[in-house]
Amino acid sequence: MAARVVKNDTVVVVTGRDRGTEGKVTRVLVDQGRVVVEGVNTRIRHVKAKQPGQPAGRVEFFAPVAVSNVAVVCPSCKRGVRLGAKFLADGTKVRVCRSCGDVIEKPEWQKVPSNG
Ligand SMILES: [Zn+2]
Repeated sequence: MAARVVKNDTVVVVTGRDRGTEGKVTRVLVDQGRVVVEGVNTRIRHVKAKQPGQPAGRVEFFAPVAVSNVAVVCPSCKRGVRLGAKFLADGTKVRVCRSCGDVIEKPEWQKVPSNG
């Protein structure tokens, strides 16, 4: 099982129509093994306004893609890489780049605030 992609990760699409497109993960559908990535897999939904003021017509949205079709971008390598995992001295499990060995930080929102 590949290391997990989390929300706000920057990923690159490695296969299909959007191959090479980089974007930020906006949603992770864990049970489906899919992720929604900004700018990737654009679909157009034709909608009717149900209430005044609601958008009608063609609404673009990003459809989920399989996790296996994206690779997390390593900040050091500047490309999509395979991830490994290791434990730090304090027991924290981190993701590492299999190419350069750098730790790939989880996006800010997941970090527990240290103050208070
Ligand atoms: Zn790397």
